[in-house]
Order: sequence, then C-alpha cells, then structure tokens
Amino acid sequence: MADAPSNIRALQGEQILELTWADSQPHRLPYRFIRGECPCAVCIDEWTGERILDPASIREDIKLEGMEPVGNYAVRLGWNDGHSSGLYTWEQLQKLAEKHASQ
Ligand SMILES: [Zn+2]
Repeated sequence: MADAPSNIRALQGEQILELTWADSQPHRLPYRFIRGECPCAVCIDEWTGERILDPASIREDIKLEGMEPVGNYAVRLGWNDGHSSGLYTWEQLQKLAEKHASQ
C-alpha cells in the first residue's frame, strides 16, 4: 500500500496541487491535469477502462472547492465544475506525480 503524502497543499492562485512525500521533493501537479485523470465512474468507463472525459473540455479556470480525506488511503477532490466524485488514492496520486514528471 502506498504511503500517504506527508503534506498536501492546494495553491489556488497557481491552480496547482502540491504533494510531498517523505524524503522527496514536492510534486507540483496542475489542477487541469489532475481533474483530467479523475478515476471516477463518470470519467472512466468501469468496464472498458476507457476515459470518457475529454481533457479539452475541462475549464481553464478549474479550481478545487473541497478536499476531504477518505479513511487513511485516499482524498476526495471537489472541483468548481460541480464534480466531486473523484476519489484519489495515495497510490494513484503517486502514479500521477510520476506520470506528470515524465511528460
Ligand atoms: Zn470523475
């Protein structure tokens, strides 16, 4: 099981979610990137794993409206486009950080 980040900071002005895991540099992930990778059933077809959400359709001024811890394994992110069903596990966030770093 992936470790929880030691720190999560929402930088609303920059539209960046800053995730820090112990002993590593902070990862700075743009909101639009994270929103585009939403793992919920509305954004991804549960059966085929195909992404339904078109990243181009995400508004430019996307902002976080809520961050709610779920158990000790995930965080639920609520966005200003009214979407709040995305549950991001620590493992998923780590993968997103790696994916973004490799882009
Ligand atoms: Zn979603």
